[in-house]
Amino acid sequence: MSGRRKKSVMQFRARQSGSKIIQFKCPVKCGRCEYYFNTRRRCKRRVCIGYPYCFQHLPKVMKLKTKESKVLKDLGLPNNKGIYASGKNIVFKAGDKIADYNAEKINMKELEKRYDYGEHDNTGPYVISNEKGEIFDAACTRIPGSLLNDPKGSNKEANAEFQDDVTNNDLPIITALRDIKHDEEILVSYGPDYWAGMDNLDITPSVRLLNRGNVYYNA
Ligand SMILES: [Zn+2]
Repeated sequence: MSGRRKKSVMQFRARQSGSKIIQFKCPVKCGRCEYYFNTRRRCKRRVCIGYPYCFQHLPKVMKLKTKESKVLKDLGLPNNKGIYASGKNIVFKAGDKIADYNAEKINMKELEKRYDYGEHDNTGPYVISNEKGEIFDAACTRIPGSLLNDPKGSNKEANAEFQDDVTNNDLPIITALRDIKHDEEILVSYGPDYWAGMDNLDITPSVRLLNRGNVYYNA
């Protein structure tokens, strides 16, 4: 363990109540890339976004890569990350599972604490729930799925969706709606509730953009 390593905090402006911006913070969970070249040698790169694999091994193992979101850039929101299919030709076929949304499972009390959920009919930027009503927040987990963008307002359409994995306790997964080719950004609809929640918020346009862009930064 290195005592000299600086502890980073993930902080993002989830919403604004009146003139006050509520900031939800959590420690950035970084770790060593989990890729093994062979039984003894493990990749030494440290990763925070797209964990558990580094930029080189995320495509190799998960057929995904992260880079600037084209759809958000086209909407006037440059420098936001997106997640892309990476492989040869058609990377994911219609109906294929793309990835788990293995986020942190939280209860309603925690959801309310984090996002003041309910008062403004708000929703957390990385929160999804399944049919069982279980709540999953990827704000502090930095899984590849947390980088999925919604193409709302652009000329693109969702090519993937969230589903409950009936074979695995209804845990949320991301599946392909149609064939997805190499270098295509993976896009999902956040659903009408999410956008209605955003519309109900008493927030300034800049905070709305921050929400839209899923902007986070190290404090
Ligand atoms: Zn690696």
